[in-house]
Amino acid sequence: WSSRDFSWTKKLEENNKKVFGNHSFRPNQREVINATMSGYDVFVLMPTGGGKSLTYQLPALICPGITLVISPLVSLIQDQIMHLLQANIPAAYLSANMDWSEQQEILRELTSDYCKYKLLYVTPEKVAKSDVLLRHLNILNTRDLLARIVIDEAHCVSQWGHDFRPDYQCLGILKQKFPKTPVLALTATATASVKEDVVQALGLINCIIFRQSFNRPNLQYSVIPKTKKCVEDIDKFIKENHFDECGIIYCLSRMDCEKVAEKLQEYGHKAAFYHGNMDPAQRAFIQKQWSKDEINIICATVAFGMGINKPDVRFVIHHSLPKSIEGYHQECGRAGRDGQRSSCLLYYSYSDYVSYCENDVDCRRLLQLLHFGEKFNSAHCQKTCDNCCKITSSVDKDVTNIAKQLVELVRLTGQQFSSSHILEVYRGSLSQFVKKHRHETLSLHGAGKHLAKGEASRIIHHLVVEEFLLEDVKKSDIYGSVSSVLKVNESKAKNLFLGGKTIILRFPSSV
Ligand code: ADP
Ligand code: ZN
Repeated sequence: WSSRDFSWTKKLEENNKKVFGNHSFRPNQREVINATMSGYDVFVLMPTGGGKSLTYQLPALICPGITLVISPLVSLIQDQIMHLLQANIPAAYLSANMDWSEQQEILRELTSDYCKYKLLYVTPEKVAKSDVLLRHLNILNTRDLLARIVIDEAHCVSQWGHDFRPDYQCLGILKQKFPKTPVLALTATATASVKEDVVQALGLINCIIFRQSFNRPNLQYSVIPKTKKCVEDIDKFIKENHFDECGIIYCLSRMDCEKVAEKLQEYGHKAAFYHGNMDPAQRAFIQKQWSKDEINIICATVAFGMGINKPDVRFVIHHSLPKSIEGYHQECGRAGRDGQRSSCLLYYSYSDYVSYCENDVDCRRLLQLLHFGEKFNSAHCQKTCDNCCKITSSVDKDVTNIAKQLVELVRLTGQQFSSSHILEVYRGSLSQFVKKHRHETLSLHGAGKHLAKGEASRIIHHLVVEEFLLEDVKKSDIYGSVSSVLKVNESKAKNLFLGGKTIILRFPSSV
């Protein structure tokens, strides 16, 4: 999609420079634009800050007709419109909390003979609930003036994502009503299952998929055990590394936000809190102060997030664990959007246990990217995460026997348990859950008790990555929380038992 010349190639180049002030295209931008302008449905997975907006704003500018953009938050939309108007691209938006007369005026303009708008932004509930909007889109469509439909933050369609929004599920109606209009779905977070969900719910046909690496080389990741003096540590960290710079501290509860902010103020920082319990005016005020650098540090719940476009956020600190690794990646992604070096700190306590934090061996990047199905060579981390920094030398160990035992244990327990349960049994746990299933009676119960904690878990992880074991994901409840059970991939596992396949893992010797 990049090499061929299209009839619009020259126009693209010119407008990218002249109107948007960019010297060149970023990875995948040109490809996405060419695909969508060729009339295909396109699904784009691009990290935050990758430049998704340009992939529809530039086509909107040079194609006849109007581009409809569905975006989840009014604050996001307003920010986009402001930028468009600054670049002299006429755009408007409709949202439920606008005056009816104002909305009518925009709709009237939309179907007038010389409509000035190139883009119309709407929130998803507008599509779900406003027949008037659909009628107007229909008029545009019959005149061949509905150029493109853009679904921003498309992962909101899926219950599997971390940000499900029911109104997004109605967006499938757009493809039904306007089958000839190309749809462009954009997101910065989508695992394979979310992507499937989105493509299906939106009714995308022969969709072209662009995905690119989620690695953010300029972010430095660390995980730190959380103690009582966590906020003191944070204060010290900021003063030593990011004095007078901007950052976000994610806290679990509203109370935590307020407490942490108050403490940091005592330590002399320009800090404020932000959470869902504040009224919208208050929140807008804080957000504004922050964007004008009048506040450096925001202590926030995850309510503070989407729509933050501040490029120079130098640190994102998780005062407590994020809800999922996807959420974590997204939240960290708000740091360093300008490409400059920035820090991501995660404080965890034992009760908050997750495997990402427990793991003190593998590269943090590798662990995060694995989650997106991306293989990462930890040599490329270049010691920009705490685990890679720790490594001075490493030893290779043959772990084939342990691997065989683990696979056998998955079989013995009937292929219906999670990896953490398999590990518990292997390491000899006598927990109630183990006893309930009588797994303490298995011959392999406790077979791995001589192993260091984390070692067996790494091996099982490796077996999953190399597909000796398969994770069968189950959606366990209506909130979409997900659990997974391990199954044996027999066709692959037979190499291990019959084919003489050995498994060697590298174990670092730490300082
Ligand atoms: P996303 O929506 O993927 O998070 P944005 O569309 O908001 O990213 O773009 C992030 C930043 O990158 C914006 O400031 C934008 O102006 C800038 N940008 C986008 N494309 C280019 C480009 N080709 N060259 C330079 N800057 C770009
Ligand atoms: Zn690393």
